[in-house]
Amino acid sequence: MKRQQTGTNAGRRCLELAVNVEISVEEHEHWMRRALALADRAANEGEVPVGAVVVQGGQLLGEGWNQMIAAQDPTAHAEIVALRDAARVAGNYRLPGATLYVTLEPCTMCAGAMIHARIETLVFAAQEPKAGVVCSTCSMLDEPRYNHRINWRGGILAQDSSSRLQAFFQARRQGL
Ligand SMILES: [Zn+2]
Repeated sequence: MKRQQTGTNAGRRCLELAVNVEISVEEHEHWMRRALALADRAANEGEVPVGAVVVQGGQLLGEGWNQMIAAQDPTAHAEIVALRDAARVAGNYRLPGATLYVTLEPCTMCAGAMIHARIETLVFAAQEPKAGVVCSTCSMLDEPRYNHRINWRGGILAQDSSSRLQAFFQARRQGL
């Protein structure tokens, strides 16, 4: 397998190559496209377009999309929904060796849930400057105080995710 290339804007921490990640960019993009399709599903349901998938051993284990409004559940972020789906399929609340793909940099709650689930690798698309805790507001996953470290990288199909979010919020501002 081809090793990942560091993004063109290599000076930005969010685009840096995470250590120990041996999966090719093509495979990352394959799974991120799946997550983007779930983001579209969220948008169609009137939710902020964020989608996530959990992959283990090259197989899709779980999927999720934002459903806070429909589920009346503040914890129903795409990542949490995908983790619950994957844990149910695996029959285990821990998902060692799994990779979580999400279209937007995770928040505190979701990053914490990934640590609890022992996710091995996180791959996200767009940065979230206001609430992202991987590299935007802080570097939660790089802090040594947790008993589990998650490899991560951002910037996979970032523009595809950003354009969906921009279109969603623009339509909402216009009352469409
Ligand atoms: Zn979240």
